[in-house]
Amino acid sequence: MLITQVEAAERFDSVAFSSEIIDGRTTSMYTCYRCPRCGERIQFTRRDFEERAPRRLSNLPSEAALEIDAWAARSALGDAPFLDWVCPACSLPARVYVQPWAGGRHGDHGVKLLTVVECAQEQGQAP
Ligand SMILES: [Zn+2]
Repeated sequence: MLITQVEAAERFDSVAFSSEIIDGRTTSMYTCYRCPRCGERIQFTRRDFEERAPRRLSNLPSEAALEIDAWAARSALGDAPFLDWVCPACSLPARVYVQPWAGGRHGDHGVKLLTVVECAQEQGQAP
């Protein structure tokens, strides 16, 4: 297994969601992840990050989940909420760690996507 760690901004169109209204507009409710191996795009909603991530439920193959958990335990992200998925096109297991926040003058809240971790088999990687 080969763990790849990248900034969320390298994989997602948008990495910040919030209830704030900026210039009269709310931030997008959606973001797309682009699989680095096959180019498949997977759409997520703000709700996925706000409601599902804090439950920290993994749906990855157990080997990949263990590898990523071990990686997270060595980094500062061990306790952060996360969302897991497997690419529907090429089966690349991946996880994004997120950071929820709340506060500000208007009691705003939101979530920020921090780091994407992908877990590839050592052989047969994309160039
Ligand atoms: Zn893929």
